[in-house]
Amino acid sequence: MTIVDHFVAGRSFTGTGERLGPVFDPALGVETKRVRLAAPADVDAAVAAAAQAFPGWRDKSWARRQEVLFTFRELLNARRGELAEIITSEHGKVVSDAAGEIARGQEVLEFALGMPHLARGGYSENVSTGVDAFTLRQPLGVVSIVSPFNFPAMVPMWFLPMALATGNTVVLKPSEKDPSAANWLAALLSEAGLPDGVFNVLHGDKVAVDGLLEHPDVQAVSFVGSTPIARYVYENATRAGKRVQALGGAKNHMLVLADADLDLAADSAVNAAFGSAGERCMAISVLAVVDSVADDLIGRISERMGRIKVGDGRQGCDMGPLVTREHRDKVADYVELAVKEGASVVVDGRDVEPAGAAEGFWLGPTLVDRVGRDSRIYTEEIFGPVLSVVRVRDLAEGIEIINDGAYGNGTAIFTTSGGAARRFQREVEAGMIGINVPIPVPVSYYSFGGWKQSMFGDTKAYGEQGVHFFTREKAVTSRWPVTAGAGGFDLGFPQNA
Ligand code: NAD
Repeated sequence: MTIVDHFVAGRSFTGTGERLGPVFDPALGVETKRVRLAAPADVDAAVAAAAQAFPGWRDKSWARRQEVLFTFRELLNARRGELAEIITSEHGKVVSDAAGEIARGQEVLEFALGMPHLARGGYSENVSTGVDAFTLRQPLGVVSIVSPFNFPAMVPMWFLPMALATGNTVVLKPSEKDPSAANWLAALLSEAGLPDGVFNVLHGDKVAVDGLLEHPDVQAVSFVGSTPIARYVYENATRAGKRVQALGGAKNHMLVLADADLDLAADSAVNAAFGSAGERCMAISVLAVVDSVADDLIGRISERMGRIKVGDGRQGCDMGPLVTREHRDKVADYVELAVKEGASVVVDGRDVEPAGAAEGFWLGPTLVDRVGRDSRIYTEEIFGPVLSVVRVRDLAEGIEIINDGAYGNGTAIFTTSGGAARRFQREVEAGMIGINVPIPVPVSYYSFGGWKQSMFGDTKAYGEQGVHFFTREKAVTSRWPVTAGAGGFDLGFPQNA
């Protein structure tokens, strides 16, 4: 059985922890690898490697740091197919979708290649007579990234290029469910010339995360995962004095008005609900549709769902399995619950006939209509291929139900009315809004993050906010007198003159 080791100080690291976690191939339904689960001493070793590497990396010129990241980008471009295969073999998403997540991660890397410009300070000459003022942005030190299973390459890459380009050193704690992508990225960074210890991968579970949250040498935590853990990470890391951005779960609504292009809405709902088997934080999980067009839209969606080919992601299917058997069963239980809660299951994914091994963690696309707004299937994050339908009277009720929800990650409206869309974008309480766009993940030069229970902390991922998260600003006021002794004696508070 292959063991996935940690990657510390530029090489494979076994550590002292004796615990191992299973890694499955979800389309085969078999355990293919085991991953090391760090003990507290392994956290110390990874952080020590990053702390030791920090001064050297910080003191490299912008040009030298950019050179390494640029080489990394070239290598990634040439070899991304290998990474996509690894992702599919541990996560289950189809290979084209895995390639898509790598491409979106690479966009952040390419944005970070402009870091010398992005992290520039300002300079004002003669703010007082003979006095100049300027600002610098400097790295924090050792920063940690804790990532979820659903984007094993993209989510780490939301942060790591930003952290490295600004001169920080990193300890990444990836999901223990699909750990190998992180090691592949670490090896590629080394090949690109990244000095040992600048980027480290520590595998594990709560023990590893707690160790990072408490470690005095870790300056910042970028977390992405479910809401309860995001809140836990935010509370504990801020209590320990760290800078934190903790992105949590979601329940994203797509609101379809009566004047919408229903074919566009149907295609968008199907793609956004069932891509990656619904295991995306920006997946659409609730369709809120104006009653007068609801039956028509549900018909168009059901017809499309019948054409989704579920199976092994390596074999040209549209939708793969869920990540583990346990998660598959949990999602299937929600479908059972929907029936008990009085909803109507229009398409039942439990009946799916997959193109793949019988033991795979399969659940087909599921459509549930007339979902009650107090029901658990409506209020809880399911994180699987289940699309719930609620019927609304109009735009106002659509906005009201979205704003009543606990989460505020993404939401979308489908309409041909500019006025309706503008009202929606003004009034709806979510961090990322789509207008006739179902998965509005911001491009790399904007920033990613939700509102309410979908994000804790006020600095979003990547874009300009990412630059700020990974740097501290220093403001300098300086005087270089041409002649000696020009200051004069004055105990008053300094004023500009
Ligand atoms: P998760 O919360 O179970 O795990 C996330 C990370 O936290 C993993 O690295 C895991 O090892 C660690 N972890 C798990 N339990 C822990 C504990 N008790 N204490 C400390 N650390 C712990 O999430 P997941 O199942 O891997 O990912 C799916 C979730 O992530 C969904 O809720 C999804 O919405 C969310 N997500 C959010 C975004 C976003 O940008 N908002 C993006 C992707 C995923």
